[in-house]
Amino acid sequence: MGDKLNFEQSAKVIAENSRFVAGGVNSNFRLGMQPGPLVFERGEGAYLFDVDGNRLIDYYCGMGAMVLGHNPAGVRQAVKEQVDRGILFAGQAPVEFEAARIICERIPSAERIRFGSSGSEVAQAAVRLARAVTGRRKIVKFEGHYHGWFDNILWSTAPALNAGGPEDAPVPVGGSKGQDPSEAEGLSILGWNDLASVEARLAKGDVAAVLMEAAMCNQGAISPAPGYLEGVQAACRKHGALLIFDEVITGFRLGRGGAQERFGVTPDISIFAKAIANGFPVAAIVGRADLIDLFATGGVLHGGTFNAQPVAMAAMIGTQNALTPEHYERSSVYGVRLRDGISDILKEAGIKAQVTGFELMFHVAFGLDEPARNYRDMARSDKKGYSLFSLALLQRGVRVLERGAWFVSSEHNDDVVDQTLEAVRSAAREVAP
Ligand code: PLP
Repeated sequence: MGDKLNFEQSAKVIAENSRFVAGGVNSNFRLGMQPGPLVFERGEGAYLFDVDGNRLIDYYCGMGAMVLGHNPAGVRQAVKEQVDRGILFAGQAPVEFEAARIICERIPSAERIRFGSSGSEVAQAAVRLARAVTGRRKIVKFEGHYHGWFDNILWSTAPALNAGGPEDAPVPVGGSKGQDPSEAEGLSILGWNDLASVEARLAKGDVAAVLMEAAMCNQGAISPAPGYLEGVQAACRKHGALLIFDEVITGFRLGRGGAQERFGVTPDISIFAKAIANGFPVAAIVGRADLIDLFATGGVLHGGTFNAQPVAMAAMIGTQNALTPEHYERSSVYGVRLRDGISDILKEAGIKAQVTGFELMFHVAFGLDEPARNYRDMARSDKKGYSLFSLALLQRGVRVLERGAWFVSSEHNDDVVDQTLEAVRSAAREVAP
């Protein structure tokens, strides 16, 4: 590999514009990455082009949203046609009913749907609905699972190990200064992938819902243990709680029907965002008709000026049209080649690592002897070592998240995978012990 890339121009633009934008970024999750936040001029297929003139192979994929890669022609065309028809009506448009029909046909649990604009927002709708239906307050939430940045749910997303209490009795750990501490009382925090603890907690009879990423993707890429989802569902039914799957990452990525189709467990309610519309701000809450209809008839408020925004709906339809079974077959071949290739290269380089997860979303954790089963396992990984590796990759033109997640799109074809594996080989040599 030739000279390392540099990112001086990005640093300059960020520094200049921090006069206007706090920290030069519009989401805290874009802060703190090495060598600093980057500024991009355009995206195309598997690539991003930054203000330093670098071409980067992108595995952020819009934090998981760009399942078709950057700027796919079908989505662009659908958006242009809708812009010509109008932007926002504060009324209904045929495009949103077409979008709704497609999702209801594709997602097993989706008898009814309501659209929103972000995953954080529809997570709130799900929590409110569960509390309204059951008349109970407590939501079971798992360590390491992330359901958005709002006060009532931003707890124990990535607690320091010594702050989260014992493994079998975790305590809520807030994610931000300024968070209302009393909101933690609405939650019961458990370790994920441990059925006995869910059964014991639900038996107290005060839980409105169990909320989870059905495959844990925010801290690792971890499958549910065999029988776990079925067991949680049975316990929910027995004790009168609802089961909510947060499919904001897994939706349209673990397959067209999401984690629920892949693992064969149909929750009462589920939420989607990210890949549903390949980068446009669309989110959805779906579920049993009798539950979702309560937004219309049961006095449960769900609002939003931009809900079912027609241009975003058109983008969603354009995205869904491209998410054919062939799309998943083709992209999965690339994803598996990449995932297994990385694992082999790290092994050859003598780097202890676990590469786990799925075809279009996997995770690389340094320093673990065994694949992680939950957040506590993942928290013991060598984050500093992986951060150095991710910087070495960036300097070789491959952009990956420092926390270990890799998102793959249909544009990450054999040629892109070859280039990536070459960079991985070179970066591994640099950071190997
Ligand atoms: N749920 C999960 C599983 C997520 O990964 C995220 C975001 O990363 C959210 C909810 C929040 O979605 P958004 O960032 O669109 O508000």
